[in-house]
Amino acid sequence: MLIDNLVTNSGQNYVRGGTEKGKTLDITKPENNPKKPVINWASLRENRAKYESMKWAGLPPIEKNFYKESSRTASMSQEEVDLWRKENNDITCDDLKEGEKRCIPNPVCKFEDVFEYYPDIMANIRRVGFQKPTPIQSQAWPIILQGIDLIAIAQTGTGKTLAYLMPGFIHLTSQPIPKDQRGGPGMLVLAPTRELALQVEAECSKYAYKGIKSICVYGGGDRKGQIDTVTKGVDIVIATPGRLNDLQMNNFINLKSITYLVLDEADRMLDMGFEPQIMKILIDVRPDRQTVMTSATWPDGVRRLAKSYLRDPMIVYVGTLDLAAVNTVQQKVFVIPEEEKRAFMHSFIKSMKPKDKVIIFVGKKLTADDLASDFGIQGIPVQSLHGNREQCDREQALDDFKKGKVRILVATDLASRGLDVHDITHVFNFDFPRNIEEYVHRVGRTGRAGRTGEAVTLVTSNDWRFASELIDILERANQVVPDELIAMAERYKQSQMRKDGEKDIQRPWRKPSK
Ligand code: AMP
Repeated sequence: MLIDNLVTNSGQNYVRGGTEKGKTLDITKPENNPKKPVINWASLRENRAKYESMKWAGLPPIEKNFYKESSRTASMSQEEVDLWRKENNDITCDDLKEGEKRCIPNPVCKFEDVFEYYPDIMANIRRVGFQKPTPIQSQAWPIILQGIDLIAIAQTGTGKTLAYLMPGFIHLTSQPIPKDQRGGPGMLVLAPTRELALQVEAECSKYAYKGIKSICVYGGGDRKGQIDTVTKGVDIVIATPGRLNDLQMNNFINLKSITYLVLDEADRMLDMGFEPQIMKILIDVRPDRQTVMTSATWPDGVRRLAKSYLRDPMIVYVGTLDLAAVNTVQQKVFVIPEEEKRAFMHSFIKSMKPKDKVIIFVGKKLTADDLASDFGIQGIPVQSLHGNREQCDREQALDDFKKGKVRILVATDLASRGLDVHDITHVFNFDFPRNIEEYVHRVGRTGRAGRTGEAVTLVTSNDWRFASELIDILERANQVVPDELIAMAERYKQSQMRKDGEKDIQRPWRKPSK
């Protein structure tokens, strides 16, 4: 900034090295260094509340409560509600409001219980032929429709997108001021990756009604086209934080009209380092909006985000029990040396049947490219999906895989989040993931929509720290646990105990470890 000021304000072409037309430009002299007005931070801080209210003055009021509980839902006894939650992915709910707790609404068991007064939504649901709400939808809809902020801890594949989109449509079309007179979009969905953003947009276009217009704004896509659409007027913006922040900073988009905000897959957005962009985006979104956040996991970072951006939320936790409870995926684990992984994978691919479709997960982009070119050399058609590929190539890869032009997709976790391909028969974990949640997530790519699937996982001695958590998951899902894995978990435990013991000897004042 200083250099820019010098170059533009001094009217001279300042040359690095200090001389211009033979004379030195002394930047310490006042005439060469025009003064900028000093910002009075103390006064700004003192008057913060005043400036805040000035910033949001004149915005229309927000209507948030649209819920009319059906007599069927209202008549459920506490025992029935508890049993329903237990049997539906062991849902747990809590009110995070401080002080007196509110009553968590009963789940809705049928679409009619919640959308009876919204015939457009009911018509769309009938058109696609859904039988009943998924567990997260049953529990989330009555909360969101009452205007309460919600944190939904749920994986992709649980129906979480429609859990926030349907109430969002109602919110958008039921405001006192019609949507085309609000001067900007009313709903914003922030998503971590282009793939997920595009998938949310596809769901949005499929179920939207009353001429609701949506746009997907993501890095790598056609920036000019996105700007043109945004400036023509849209109701819903689905965006990755980086590109939206770019449009916002350049005044192409007005975020003050947003009254319904979704932070989708918040844990993944944090993992990808989007927190600064999210912070900047939310500075321009009115604080009295309604906010829904989804996340597959609930670590400290996500809790912090929730505390900063949600107001008195409720939380609905859908356990990762899909795996354990549904048992639609057979999980096979093989403990082998690192150097045998390739040969193992190739013999697995040879054993595939013509209708099988497999996603091979690897840890690094380089490995993805490497394996893909290996297959290419052998004349086996594959596609690969990772963060270093051009956007158009990634879309093509996904399309080829979805349509079955290729039956093998090599992917990193980064690119695979939110991947919704119904007929994947196998997941092959070439590299073990960075954490056990990701394992659950990967395995859940198969066995979807009532089908069965198989997950094959290679574990090497480098992965020993995950062995005991993996055993837990396998046991919960009634799967075979290989003896080598049990031995590996034991060795890791012993080594940790040895390490702890050594630390205690070095630092005798240290508290004994558990
Ligand atoms: P999501 O968890 O949002 O990625 O959704 C996964 C898939 O489930 C999507 O293809 C949805 O269209 C589908 N889906 C959403 N709600 C339902 C429902 N109530 N019944 C059956 N499928 C659904």
